Amino acid sequence: MSRPEVLVAGRMPPNVLEQLEASFIVHRLPDDADEADEMIEAVGPHIRGVATNAVQAPPVETLERLPALEIMASSGIGTDALNLDYAGRRGIRVTHTPDVLTEDVADAAIMLMLATSRQLVVADRNVRAGRWLEGLSLAHRVSGKRLGILGLGRIGRAIAHRAAGFDMTIGYHQRRRNTDVAYRYHDSLVALAAESDFLVVVVPGGAATDRMVDATVLEALGPEGILVNVGRGSTVDEPALIDALTQGHIRGAGLDVLADEPHVPEALRTLDNVVLAPHYASATVETRTAMGQLVVDNLRAHFAGQALLTPVA
Ligand code: NDP
Repeated sequence: MSRPEVLVAGRMPPNVLEQLEASFIVHRLPDDADEADEMIEAVGPHIRGVATNAVQAPPVETLERLPALEIMASSGIGTDALNLDYAGRRGIRVTHTPDVLTEDVADAAIMLMLATSRQLVVADRNVRAGRWLEGLSLAHRVSGKRLGILGLGRIGRAIAHRAAGFDMTIGYHQRRRNTDVAYRYHDSLVALAAESDFLVVVVPGGAATDRMVDATVLEALGPEGILVNVGRGSTVDEPALIDALTQGHIRGAGLDVLADEPHVPEALRTLDNVVLAPHYASATVETRTAMGQLVVDNLRAHFAGQALLTPVA
């Protein structure tokens, strides 16, 4: 029997592409829109699998042109870009890559807390420009402070575990209280923010969390507070955040994710109390290799008639 045809939409590490090419007939979707359109026109009817990631997944209009599609294997946890309702209606199976990225994303949250509070980026710029300590104000301590976690799931727990090593007092908010942790639960996000020096956002994107970090939450976080977002940009009301940063309603922000990636509002690019990263919290060789391996293994399992390793629940 001929090998199944698979469309690769989005970035994949080279070793993952090699494995995909060993098992499937692979078509890599070009970045250029016209070239992509031509490719879909030519091979769309034969595509049975899509390998993609949590931010570059094909839109419904593209999926409509893949009538034989059986499975979409995504690298990443977030399902907000995966058109799950549409896939469900068509019976397309969807997989993602939980767990394997937890540790790196938690590391990145701690990195952003430290970099923002200790003004690492401004300090680095000072040293490179030959200014040494000139104009650099005193930074603020992280150890021993109060950490609020919005979303004490897999990654939230790993952040809390690390923060305990910094002697931080840990609180959290989500819809359900976790019965197996001693951290303080707050039944409202505003209450959590009011009790936090650092508020770390690590909930899924989508309608339920859309702009839940708004002006009221930022006001509650207060002028000594720092916001860190490693979840999704959509969870933070970005204009409200820019206002809060500009007017000193909060001290700073460390952002791995933005509302309209890769568009970066001018204000965020110019503010010194902001540390920015290009949605790369899971982007280490170790984690991206493990994520890519799960994409390959899920596709192989599906076409071999075996159980999927990490289906989206
Ligand atoms: P989990 O599903 O383990 O945890 C998500 C947590 O969010 C749960 O504890 C859940 O608790 C809480 N939550 C969900 N919806 C809401 C809501 N509406 N209001 C309040 N809390 C909510 O996911 P992970 O920890 O593995 O990943 C979390 C998110 O991190 C991903 O969905 C993804 O968007 C993001 N991510 C970002 C990466 C990056 O590169 N920056 C990389 C990987 C993930 P409850 O259900 O009780 O509300």
